[in-house]
Amino acid sequence: MRGTMMDFPLTLPTILERSGRIFPRVELVSRKPDKSIVRSCYGTFYRRARRLAAAMTKLGLQSGDRVASMMWNHIGHLEAFFGVPCAGGILHTLNLRLHPQEIAGIAKHAGDRFLLIDDVLLPVYEKFREDVSFERVIVVPYGFNSVPEGFLSYEELLTGVSAEFQYPAIDENDGASMCFTSGTTGCSKGVIYSHRALVLHSFCCGLVEVFGMSQSDTVLPVAPMFHANAWGIPFAATMLGARLVLPGPHVDPESILELMVSERVTIACGVPTVWIAILDALEKNPGRWKFDPPIRVVCGGTAPPVELIRRLDRFGLQIKHLWGMTETTPIGTSGGLRAYMSDWPDHKKYEVRAKQGWPAPFVEIRLMRPEGPGTVEGKKSCEVPWDGVTTGEIEIRGPWVAASYYESPDQAHRWTADGWFRTGDVATMDEDGYVKIVDRAKDLVKSGGEWISSVDLENALMGHPAVKEACVVGIPHPRWQERPLAAVVLKDGTQASPEELRAFLAESFARWQLPDAFVFLDAIPRTSVGKFKKIALREQFANWNWDS
Ligand code: ADP
Repeated sequence: MRGTMMDFPLTLPTILERSGRIFPRVELVSRKPDKSIVRSCYGTFYRRARRLAAAMTKLGLQSGDRVASMMWNHIGHLEAFFGVPCAGGILHTLNLRLHPQEIAGIAKHAGDRFLLIDDVLLPVYEKFREDVSFERVIVVPYGFNSVPEGFLSYEELLTGVSAEFQYPAIDENDGASMCFTSGTTGCSKGVIYSHRALVLHSFCCGLVEVFGMSQSDTVLPVAPMFHANAWGIPFAATMLGARLVLPGPHVDPESILELMVSERVTIACGVPTVWIAILDALEKNPGRWKFDPPIRVVCGGTAPPVELIRRLDRFGLQIKHLWGMTETTPIGTSGGLRAYMSDWPDHKKYEVRAKQGWPAPFVEIRLMRPEGPGTVEGKKSCEVPWDGVTTGEIEIRGPWVAASYYESPDQAHRWTADGWFRTGDVATMDEDGYVKIVDRAKDLVKSGGEWISSVDLENALMGHPAVKEACVVGIPHPRWQERPLAAVVLKDGTQASPEELRAFLAESFARWQLPDAFVFLDAIPRTSVGKFKKIALREQFANWNWDS
């Protein structure tokens, strides 16, 4: 005996029990495919999640078995978030927006034994059912009231068991859930989150500089529950007793704005493209939706442009910036303004808010650069100073950072010999620990031996009054290796020429950094989680004629 504290495991059953006993009356709101609203509470959720755990155990679920889910953001999915891990299984949230063949490949790689699926998504399943071999497919009646023949009914399973359920022995380092990266820069890789990681991450979500989430909040995750567990919100909200509003498949700007007003949401989260579309709707419909007191909008996945932050402020939507990855559960850094900045001029405050913030507690970050010029793989690297100027690749470690990808030995090089994860993101850090992402290493435009940040260019472009969206990519160039091409979506009823946009950028960038080509599109292609799909643009314009 060391004579210190109890060895109390950090596992999800403790959060589930707590929600049922401490927050039974806190409401859970969820939207159905027909847009009607269903209201439940943590008390009911608690009993149903326990029943699901009992039902999965009765079906033969063994500790560590993967149970796939293909579901929208709704209460049934929340039940799965707890019911499966509390029975000792691992809930693998499948990204329903991927191509059916990709979904099948990921489910096979993960070795998923069972599938929980929304009835409305069965047509997607039909497209890949020949390529997978789930032992049982359990259909959740989300849009309709009946379950087609040949499938197990979720509701029948739940009524077929007793709510008296004994949790199996769970070690805090056992797997609880699993996500694959969204594949923005390459093929998807699997990450298994331990109970311990999810519990500690939930505490982190309560911090003011992160979500600042508590029982007095109403939280709307626009981010899908299959994208890094909707950024950990379902686990954190259940632990902290926050009221949840789950939007189902309706994530268009009007539906989200309407829900934010009618359900008096206090915290919402989503990638910048969601908020760009919402800003557009707000500006086109002055006075239609009002947010007073202001809403905390947690935004990450890519960098929100300063102009977006500034303009949303006017509507009472205050962006709080967060950087993270599927591999980091996902919170890595967050922040905003420090107390001593309160009397800084506005433009400096916005500059700070556009940074990615500082590392969350117990998350450690260092910026690394290969020694000597060039970026040769395997070369010895050294840490760069935190001076706000010198760039390096973010390496990260902490209790909710993945130690490996699931069965991907070819990816072992992403972890350093001394135990840090190589993120592939290039950033600067200043003396106060603020991180500023320059770009993903793969997205930096490599021009004549110099690097150009595509993020800085596109965010500056989105500050032009005529520009709704902008995405900058490096395109092969016979002389310079790559040169920047800017794809631009103009706001309805506005005009801007390439010359005008170049002149606008020239106010803040050196000549050699300016895009040499501008293309005007109706929409920028998106990834399955709503980020700009740079791979698609690079392919589309790969043979750009620089002489024209
Ligand atoms: P994918 O790499 O497939 O997009 P993730 O959704 O896990 O999968 O994305 C993580 C990446 O998203 C990070 O490595 C980083 O490049 C980018 N990212 C996340 N948050 C931010 C942010 N606030 N600012 C800039 N980039 C971000």
